[in-house]
Amino acid sequence: MKKTINEDWKNKKVSDLSEKHFSRYGEFLVSFELSKHGWNVYEPVYDEYIDFIIHKYICKNCNKLWNHTPQLVCKQCGKDFTKSQKSKIKAYKKCSNCNRMFNAKNKKACPECKSKDLINRPTCDKCDGEVEMIKHTCECGSIDFDTKFRTIQVKSSRIEDKNTYAVDMKPKDLIEDGLHYFIWCLIDNDSRPSFLVMSVKEFKEVMKESLNGISFFKDEGREHFSSKDFGKWKEFLNSFDKLEL
Ligand SMILES: [Zn+2]
Ligand SMILES: [Zn+2]
Ligand SMILES: [Zn+2]
Repeated sequence: MKKTINEDWKNKKVSDLSEKHFSRYGEFLVSFELSKHGWNVYEPVYDEYIDFIIHKYICKNCNKLWNHTPQLVCKQCGKDFTKSQKSKIKAYKKCSNCNRMFNAKNKKACPECKSKDLINRPTCDKCDGEVEMIKHTCECGSIDFDTKFRTIQVKSSRIEDKNTYAVDMKPKDLIEDGLHYFIWCLIDNDSRPSFLVMSVKEFKEVMKESLNGISFFKDEGREHFSSKDFGKWKEFLNSFDKLEL
């Protein structure tokens, strides 16, 4: 579904999009960016404050992305067939009766003893050793992984007059469970996106005084900042690493 949405948008200028479509477009760009950073992105069926639930498996020890695809490795010489060499594994069979190993192509019985009691024996093309499936082990040696979840609220903005971006903040946006993050998708007049990534805590730290301002709690919380240098928010530019903390 997302693919077709993107194709529809390809020929349109960002400034032509309605507010609703622009906001969907921002969400799409953010989800694409998140998946580039190894996150699986899910959309709640309905939630006013959470646009995405994101998730990844990481090594418990060193935080590296965890790969659930088992490895295919030769027991004898260690050759790794996992990535592109799967087709090179020889489809041998082994006779349970006489232990003879043979290329299984078009053979339904053992060429030696004619037994039909055969077992599959994936075989290394290099040394004829047996290829076995082994569970992922991290480069650091760890065999334990963790599941990491975050919730994401996307705020999108185009350039407004006086060369500023503006995002709307509501008091209820500030979900403080330590897992909730804002990603501001800012799109310039050439349709180029920039992303500001921050936790709710970081947002509050930067906002400090203004958060106490009464206007914020009257739902007039529009935060304006320069589209040239992102003002006080520039430290969050493309800081997708913050999601890892
Ligand atoms: Zn590790
Ligand atoms: Zn081998
Ligand atoms: Zn046999």
